[in-house]
Amino acid sequence: PKESEDNLRSPICCIMGHVDTGKTKLLDCIRGTNVQGGEAGGITQQIGATYFPAENIRERTKELKADVKLKVPGLLVIDTPGHESFTNLRSRGSGLCDIAVLVVDIMHGLEPQTIESLNLLKMRNTKFIVALNKVDRLYGWKTCHNAPIEKAMKQQSRDVKKQFETQLVQIITQFKEQGLNTELNNMDKEMRETYRIVPTSAISGEGIPDLLLVLTKLTEKTMVENLTYRNEVQCTVLEVKVIEGLGTTIDVVLVNGVLHEGDQIVGPIVTSIRALLTPHPMNELRVKGTYQNHRAIKGAQGIKITASGLEHAIAGAALYVVGPHDDLEEVKETAMGDMKSVLSRIDKSGEGVCVQASTLGSLETLLEFLKTPEVNIPVRGISIGTVHKKDVMKASVMLEKKKEFATILAFDVKVTPEAWKLADDLGVKIFMADIIYHLFDQFKGYINNLKE
Ligand code: GDP
Ligand code: MG
Repeated sequence: PKESEDNLRSPICCIMGHVDTGKTKLLDCIRGTNVQGGEAGGITQQIGATYFPAENIRERTKELKADVKLKVPGLLVIDTPGHESFTNLRSRGSGLCDIAVLVVDIMHGLEPQTIESLNLLKMRNTKFIVALNKVDRLYGWKTCHNAPIEKAMKQQSRDVKKQFETQLVQIITQFKEQGLNTELNNMDKEMRETYRIVPTSAISGEGIPDLLLVLTKLTEKTMVENLTYRNEVQCTVLEVKVIEGLGTTIDVVLVNGVLHEGDQIVGPIVTSIRALLTPHPMNELRVKGTYQNHRAIKGAQGIKITASGLEHAIAGAALYVVGPHDDLEEVKETAMGDMKSVLSRIDKSGEGVCVQASTLGSLETLLEFLKTPEVNIPVRGISIGTVHKKDVMKASVMLEKKKEFATILAFDVKVTPEAWKLADDLGVKIFMADIIYHLFDQFKGYINNLKE
């Protein structure tokens, strides 16, 4: 395939936000409406992602009379909402998510994980749109199935409009407090420094056409360079998963390039692709565990890969392909470079806390956060996965030198009972959280306590 501005790949979109704001429902809603009509409209469920072809988006946004001439082939929406998939969509320190949807419950406003998501988006410099979801919860809301939001708003009573206005103003103020300008979306307006708010209902579909239109139009307009298809493989491991009958597999997002059966891959393990799998098209019948085999797959797509040795693969690591003219050692070095850029964030003095996260992506994010001037916590050791006794031993080294650093910050990982016990016996502190700044708060509280 050629690399030029008239050959764009699908933008990759992540859905983020606080629990229960309707992230999953929103995805269902975008996917579902056409399926209900017995016509999936070319929507394909992929591994870890759903592909919405441009044709489908055009159909869904027809009512907006936007005369949509989409240049992108479609939109690839990551299926597993949350910060983990966002942070794992990375390669050599930069994010691979082209655009995100930050879902906010109109009745609740900004919540802890909304702010966490905001911080991640800021850190990675990712553009996003706010879906102000659950508008149907406004008291007295008149349902207008799948209508553009302006049309739906026109049907509402003065009282509903007033409630909406009140909530909107409040939420815009909350964003302001986070240092962000937000404004109700207006497709005809250039909104450079302002983030767009699109009101939606994931239950009755109001505002979904607007959301789809903004997502595609915005990415097309501002990211032609980023979205220009490239032949060089750009691929990242989203999840390492054991599947019955297949053994350990990796779910990857292939952003650019083509993967083939038999390709030698590095990342950081070295192996060869046994099979490239996507869910069977018959998946509508909910036949679990049946996959379709592919000889080759072109990005952007979500793919399951089977191969030997994948139990040592790391979520969040980039995957490299050894081409016919490539030197394996060189590719290995590049792959290690990716790991090293994360490792290089460790404090050289040898003094600091130990941090542990579930994936390379979340580890990188946590390290980045700890390095910011406002936080500034030195790190001496890092690890991926469950906290074991050996990790506690490693942290205990600091007991003699600086007691407060004999600490493990465990982000979104488990701690074995043996590790807890050992930590207790030795006096090593373990703080656990699934929100980054909660870890910081706990640690800060502990330090202040020690000082007193
Ligand atoms: P997630 O945790 O962000 O994935 O949230 P879910 O999609 O699981 O939704 C949480 C709850 O909110 C579920 O009971 C949904 O049915 C409900 N919900 C989601 N979106 C809407 C909406 O737009 N309107 C209303 N009324 N309820 C919603
Ligand atoms: Mg969910």
